[in-house]
Amino acid sequence: MSTLTPLPALSDPALAPIAERVLAGSRLSVEDGSVLYETADLWSVCGLADLVRRRMHGDIAYYNVNRHLNYSNVCALSCSFCAFARKRDDDGAYEYTIEEIREEARKAFASGATEMHVVGGLHPFHPFNFYIEMLQAIQEEAPGLHIKAFTAVEIVHLARISKRGRDGADGIREVLMDLRKAGLGSLPGGGAEVFDDRVHDEAFKGKIRGDAWMDVHRIAHELGINTNATMLYGHVENRAERLRHMDLLRGQQDAALRTWATSQGICGEQEVVLTGPAEQYPQGRLPTDDTCEQGWYQACIPLPFIPDDSALQHLYGPSGIENLRTIAIARLMLDNIPHMKAFWIMQTLPLSQLMLQMAGADDIDGTVVWYDITKVEGCGTHQETGVQDMHRLIREAGLCPVERDTLYRRVSRDGSSWSID
Ligand code: SF4
Repeated sequence: MSTLTPLPALSDPALAPIAERVLAGSRLSVEDGSVLYETADLWSVCGLADLVRRRMHGDIAYYNVNRHLNYSNVCALSCSFCAFARKRDDDGAYEYTIEEIREEARKAFASGATEMHVVGGLHPFHPFNFYIEMLQAIQEEAPGLHIKAFTAVEIVHLARISKRGRDGADGIREVLMDLRKAGLGSLPGGGAEVFDDRVHDEAFKGKIRGDAWMDVHRIAHELGINTNATMLYGHVENRAERLRHMDLLRGQQDAALRTWATSQGICGEQEVVLTGPAEQYPQGRLPTDDTCEQGWYQACIPLPFIPDDSALQHLYGPSGIENLRTIAIARLMLDNIPHMKAFWIMQTLPLSQLMLQMAGADDIDGTVVWYDITKVEGCGTHQETGVQDMHRLIREAGLCPVERDTLYRRVSRDGSSWSID
């Protein structure tokens, strides 16, 4: 039994059987998740999440040196929670040219970034080739930079505009292969929102449903492309719907990791739970990316809904307490996803620091620089945190900062150049 973190003193007896399952490294049920959401003993929920986080990552907290590129906010859709999208003639609409994208890539390269995170609206007029040229331009200007690009929603849009939308999974597969050839390294986790048809119809009708989002990620995993997964919560969904979302992600990760485990001759039948005590993993806890052709979810990123300027701005959005609780529950429920990210842009730096220290997060994302999709009150689109500040806030949380690349490999730096350990 792992004793890295003492079991919190439980003030709610309903948590006792859940704590036992966590200590044993057993999977929690959706019903357990409901108990974790309803208990008044939030600190025990966080303590259990911290225990599994320390089992997996010790005192390490990850960050990366990255740059986000939101290449256009012009979008054919109008999701009601979205304050980012514009129609082409609206005030504030913008679109980068390929030359401007080249310039952004040059800046990223010069700054020593290891990753460019590229997402945008569903542009109604750009041809498919624009996206290929965009990736090629970034690769040419910034060789070695990992391009993490396009949500599943954008991938389905690209399948449509490349005239392969009617080919279903085959069309998605071909599009992903074309994008990979042009430089795509992995998929971000955006656009998942909450996998529920009621929530979909109320808050983002027109966008793909959860099953289509998961299909894109499944196909990416089959191609050996790693991806992330988000959950945008705190709008019109309820807690049960969030738990169902987590359960669906967990089931899909089970399938991906089973394929990986079979390829390694480890096992082929059971679920691969990564959050148990160390002695359960004689061959290493985490899959590595150079041993098989199977991709998986690397990180889950719970995203709190920010109502400002959206069509749902009459809602409050989740509180700080709800944010802490949700990331802790996500850490406990998603026992087969290696990393839990506190995305500081949306969680804020102070709350992200707390999530790292005591609520199960092991990653805080990166330096970001520019981010157009959401802004917390008083912020513009220049949202940057320097490496020194990242180190300071991670150390203040009692943890050890480790720079990672997109695939969670350690990065070493020598002046302005970097390499993977
Ligand atoms: S959430 Fe994405 S798809 Fe929906 S309106 Fe905003 S940019 Fe468009």
